[in-house]
Amino acid sequence: MKTGIVYLIGAGPGDPGLITVKGLECLRRADVVVYDYLANPAFLNEAPPEAERIYVGKKKGCHHQPQDHINALLEEKARAGLIVARLKGGDPYVFGRGGEEALHLHNAGIPFEVVPGVTAGFAAAAYAGIPLTHRDYTTSLGLVTGHEDPAKKMSSLDWEKLATGVGTLVFYMGMANLPLITEELIAHGRPAETPVAIVRWATTPRQQTLTATLGNVVEKVREAGIKPPAVIIVGEVVELREKLRWFDNRPLFGKRVMVTRTPEQAREFIALLALQGAEAVCCPTIATAEPESWSDLDAGIAALDRTDFLILTSTNAVDSFFARLAWKGADVRSLAGVRIVAVGPKTAGAIRARGISPDLVPEEYRAEGVVALLKEQGIAGKRILYPRADLARDLIPAELAAAGAVIAAPVAYRTVAPVGGGDRIRELLTAEEIDAVTFTSSSTVENFLEMVGPDAADLLEKVNVVSIGPLTTLTAERMGLNVAVQPQIYTLEGMMEAMVDFYAESGVRIQDRKCQTPDIRFDS
Ligand code: SAH
Repeated sequence: MKTGIVYLIGAGPGDPGLITVKGLECLRRADVVVYDYLANPAFLNEAPPEAERIYVGKKKGCHHQPQDHINALLEEKARAGLIVARLKGGDPYVFGRGGEEALHLHNAGIPFEVVPGVTAGFAAAAYAGIPLTHRDYTTSLGLVTGHEDPAKKMSSLDWEKLATGVGTLVFYMGMANLPLITEELIAHGRPAETPVAIVRWATTPRQQTLTATLGNVVEKVREAGIKPPAVIIVGEVVELREKLRWFDNRPLFGKRVMVTRTPEQAREFIALLALQGAEAVCCPTIATAEPESWSDLDAGIAALDRTDFLILTSTNAVDSFFARLAWKGADVRSLAGVRIVAVGPKTAGAIRARGISPDLVPEEYRAEGVVALLKEQGIAGKRILYPRADLARDLIPAELAAAGAVIAAPVAYRTVAPVGGGDRIRELLTAEEIDAVTFTSSSTVENFLEMVGPDAADLLEKVNVVSIGPLTTLTAERMGLNVAVQPQIYTLEGMMEAMVDFYAESGVRIQDRKCQTPDIRFDS
């Protein structure tokens, strides 16, 4: 049997964007993933579903698995002809025992490759706003393990040379020995005023940074209660953070925001949140389900050859309409003579993805816009098919019928509360891990309360409730919730801006703002 290969892959410090393209490619080809503690377990989803995933890190309360076991495992899997992705935090060759694993593979004659990663010290410096070298400050850099046994008589670190011979020092695994590290550096000639930064959970939404001096950092860390994992950066360059910080001063940094739409629907909103520094926690309260009966939509599909306009007002409507069309054994050719109206660019994109271009998109991406646009077209006597959600407003059918059109508006899908999921929401709220909950329609509010149970309003007491617009706010308030934030413009972008304002004004309620348009979200 052909021997496989082991890729020693650096997974970076935590931010999932900080794995290399090559690392990700290797991971996606893996038969086996061997990992220990990972700052970001999301990487495991990148491996093929059938790949074996083997955890070799610390078990709860126990020690790390012996390195020999890990070495033997890598060897065994590769000998079996498999592609092994050995994922390691940061860079595999920086305090990560990657060297030991590579040597074992070399001795065993197993092919291996090393994919470097962004090491914690470099990442922490970048995300804390500290250039590790800068011509005006320092020209050398040292990475040091702080994981020395303080009881050891002879430290293997040459403190004298470290203290005065290297510009910037970055200590890994050094939090337990912080008093020793600072003492030794000062004792060996580094001034007590030397700036120090402690960066914990670097590159993640939980990043904490403390700046101090060698002389007072121990006390400050104790006061702030900062624990591992953290790196200790020592050197004048730390001063630059004041000007160069960019990560942890974004408006919503560190906020955990519960998003009540599905991850697919919320992708754009999650990205907006991330740009402002917030972390989205997806707890969908909306799922789609089939209509109670397909007969109305089927009748509409059967009459497509006599239909003048097809109106689609959401990507869900596009999905269910085309799925049903296919189920009936038909395809886009049935739409040859039909003019297609998409409520907005997202719906239009979903239609294009089916290989057909929408004919009309209104200027205003909502029901009113669709009605105005169609009226301009002259619709008296025209036949219109409008496959819709069960909860959609009656505006389109009512107005178009009043203008003389013959309109069929069959239910193409229903929006329902997903089964399960309520417990997770309860847990997150009870653990006070959420800063804000966002609602983007009345159904998200109603379903949320149904999923969580009668004490939902109490659980939301300490959380900022964010509503997309007045209709949603009305529903929330009717159900006993206190709405803290509501934007003036009823879009996701508007909601984001209102949250930024809200947290900037720290706690000032943004409410009672003038109603502009009903906040029915079309085109999502
Ligand atoms: N191979 C890894 C280091 C492993 S040693 C790398 O290249 O980054 C583990 C130490 O790395 C921790 O004790 C801590 O000092 C540091 N570390 C790892 N991830 C970190 C993070 N996200 N923020 C701060 N320090 C981190």
